[in-house]
Order: sequence, then structure tokens, then C-alpha cells
Amino acid sequence: MKVINPATEEVIREIPEDSKKSVEEKYQLLRSGQLQWAKVPVQKRVQCIATFYDLLDTHKDELAKTLTAEMGKPLQQSYNELNGARNRMKFFIDNSAKWLAEEWVVTEGATKEKIAYEPLGIIANISAWNYPYLVGVNVFIPALIGGNAVFYKPSEYATLTGLAIQKLLYESGVPENVFQSVVGKGNVGEYLLELPLDGYFFTGSYRTGKYIAEKIASKLVPCQLELGGKDPLYVMDDVADIDQVAAAALEGVIYNNGQSCCAVERIYVQEKVYDQFVKSYVGQAKKIVIGDPMLAGTEIGPLSRKEQQEFLMDQIKDAKEKGATVLSGGNTLDKKGYYIEPTVLVNVNHQMKVMKEESFGPITGIQKVKDDNEALQLIQDTEYGLTAAVYSKSFERAETLMKQINTGTVYWNCCDRVSGALPWSGRKHSGLGATLSYQGIRAFVQPKSYHIRDAG
Ligand code: NAD
Repeated sequence: MKVINPATEEVIREIPEDSKKSVEEKYQLLRSGQLQWAKVPVQKRVQCIATFYDLLDTHKDELAKTLTAEMGKPLQQSYNELNGARNRMKFFIDNSAKWLAEEWVVTEGATKEKIAYEPLGIIANISAWNYPYLVGVNVFIPALIGGNAVFYKPSEYATLTGLAIQKLLYESGVPENVFQSVVGKGNVGEYLLELPLDGYFFTGSYRTGKYIAEKIASKLVPCQLELGGKDPLYVMDDVADIDQVAAAALEGVIYNNGQSCCAVERIYVQEKVYDQFVKSYVGQAKKIVIGDPMLAGTEIGPLSRKEQQEFLMDQIKDAKEKGATVLSGGNTLDKKGYYIEPTVLVNVNHQMKVMKEESFGPITGIQKVKDDNEALQLIQDTEYGLTAAVYSKSFERAETLMKQINTGTVYWNCCDRVSGALPWSGRKHSGLGATLSYQGIRAFVQPKSYHIRDAG
């Protein structure tokens, strides 16, 4: 498999892909190790992860460069991702023992009752490329702490990072028969679906997620899906500082080149502040520095995948044909690398792909709305349900809306953020189940109920 640098289109490395046979051998290895790992005390498993936490920091320079080279995010954002991943790990390091401990629920009377939490077994972690550390950490860290073995399939667009993660986990004391990665594209991921694994945790597109859920349904094992989004941001007419809101919205759209599951993908602005917002947003968008992701000061690098350029240009073309106006950007760059300008579209509506289909790029449509009711209708007009942001001076007014929005996460005066302490979950086509928080610790274990009666 060729690993290509999206900024230069050069091949960085060629790596042999796994075969069906090698995947089966790795499976046998994991089967041989999982039960032993489950017997290791939880504090010791947490200790391995704490070492991994330190190693990510020790090696941050080479890890950040590798990530930027293979998926194109600005170098500073690779450092930010490593930091963010360590923050999430800290939550698991500090809280797992508490949530995995046995719970005594009945301690009086003839029959005592308790719940013990046991690992699922070997779980598949089929992962995406956009934040390989963050989305990986959501799964393999609590899975390992919970006593599971992990079959890790990094995305074919983040393979070098996946292999670096594996190497550092081994250095941290995670045994080779407890963590194995497979290299390759979807066809290699498919081999994992054929094996009798004990849980499937997938991060990626709705299309692949739905396919995987259907394919493994008859196994009757846990299946969690973290999928895409078409996340809205709504600006009410009482916001105090339009420039600040426009800056936050723009950051939500363009951070990681828009390649975030919870990136802001569509903006609604109440008519009273619409003109002022658009002027400020466009003014700031025009100043975005696009170029070599290795250079300090670059805000947008290339898209990770070549096909994505064509996909976004098609959304822009479709919007223009249906009456949208491009106020900024709208083109690819005439040089090597998969670049596209940050693009702002107005006069948009929900007949246009750009307002309905996940873009996963630095482009957005801004639509004027009359009032909160119209905004709510448009916010809900989507197949997705990951996040939604409301900007307003009044929490009460924002909360009235947030309570009605059908997403796993809502934001008041912020956007595009994830916390280790809160459940991360999508509704509708955005996914199934939750990672992170105590729920994301419990997602990797199964309860066993004990009824204990002393015969003596
Ligand atoms: P993708 O669906 O193309 O691929 C995801 C993974 O699935 C890759 O490792 C791929 O090799 C593997 N795969 C593909 N076909 C397979 C098959 N038949 N069997 C088994 N494995 C298979 O997604 P992507 O392009 O890597 O990621 C982008 C998508 O992920 C976006 O939609 C984004 O919103 C979503 N995402 C969601 C979250 C979240 O937390 N909700 C986080 C990150 C990304």
C-alpha cells in the first residue's frame, strides 16, 4: 500500500498490506492473550496507559510530523491533537477503576447482590483518518483498560500513525497478544467482519458504518458507530459581539480543514444581524492562510484525499446552479497537492447539496432566517444528529431550542468541541452508542449479576 503525502502527492512509504491469512494469525494471537490480560489488575492496566500517555509526549515531535505528512493537517494542529488525546486519556486514567469496580447493590437480607463488570473479549476498532489519535483513543484506551484485546484497523490514510501508536503501546507494556493492528483498505477491514470477534467499534462514514452493522448483525455482539454529521450553528439576534461569533463559527468550519465529524457545516443567522455577520465572516475567511502544512502560520493545508476535491467542487457547482453566490474562495489551488480554498456561500437553501450532504471540507453556506422557529425547522431538516450550536446572550432562549434539537451534543456559545467527561454520541445517521465519559468506560465491559446466598 502506498502512503501519499497530500501536500506534495509524493509517495512517502510503501507498506505491505495484511492478507486474510495474516489477519487470522493475528486473531489467534489475540485469542491466546485476552483472558490473561483480563486477569491483570485494573490498576496495572491503567499504569500501562499512563506510560503510553507519557510516551506520546516524549515522542510528540516525530509523531506530529508523521501525522501532518500523511494526512495534511497543519503541524500545530497535529500537536494540538496529541495534546487533546492525552487530555482524554487522563480522564480514563483517573476514572476507569471507579467505574469498573464491582457494585454491591443489595447488602442486607438473606441474598446479597452485586454487579461485576467483565471485558467483552476481542474487539475490533475500525478507525478514521481525520483525527487518528482522538478517535482511536475513544476506543482502544477504555477497551484495553477494561481487559479487552484490541484488533485495531487504522484508516489507510493514517497508517503510519496507526503503526506508531502500536509501537508505543508495546513500549508501554501492552502485550503483543493484546493489541494488533492490520494494515490496508476496506477489503482488509472486511476480514475483521468475518472473524468471531466480541464487539465492533467503528468510526467513519455513514455508508460504511451501516454496511458493517448490517453485515455483523447476526453475531449479536455489541456494535457502536461514530459516524458523520451536518452540524448546524445558529446565530440569534441578541449576540453581543458579532465579530467574535463570526470568528468562532469560521474556526468551527475550517479547523482541520473542515475534516471533523463535528465541524460546523451550515450556518443560520437571524435577519437583524445577518448582513453584519456575513461581512465579518467573509472578511475573516479571506485572511485564512492556506499552504504547506509543515510551515508555521499555515491555517489550512491540503485535503487528505484527492477525491474530496472533486466532491467539494461538485457541491459548490450544484449550489451555484441553484442560485447560491460565492462570496469567498470556490476554487482548488493551481499547484500540486489536494488544496481547496475556504469557501463561503450565501443565498443558499435546503435544495442544495451543500446544506444537506456532509461536506467534510472548509466550505459552508450561510442562510438568513426570520426567527427561532424557522431556524429550528432548518436545523432539524437533516438525516444526521451529531452536534448543534446556538449563539445567544440568553441561556434560557438558547436552551428552549437546544432541548428540541435531535442531536447527541448541543453547544451554547461554543462549537466543534469534545470533552472526555461527556458522552460522545450521534443520533440518526450520526451513529449508535456512546464513547467517552463513564458511559464510554462501561461500553467496553458487560455486566454480570451475582446473587449470593450463604448456605451456612
Ligand atoms: P470510511 O467509512 O471511508 O472509513 C472508515 C474505516 O473503515 C477505514 O479504516 C476503512 O478502511 C474502513 N472500511 C472501509 N470499508 C470497510 C469494510 N467494508 N469493512 C470494514 N472496514 C471498512 O470513513 P473515513 O473517510 O475514514 O472517515 C470520515 C468519516 O468519518 C466522516 O463521515 C466523519 O464525519 C466520520 N467521523 C466520525 C467521527 C465521530 O466521532 N462521530 C469521528 C471521526 C470521523
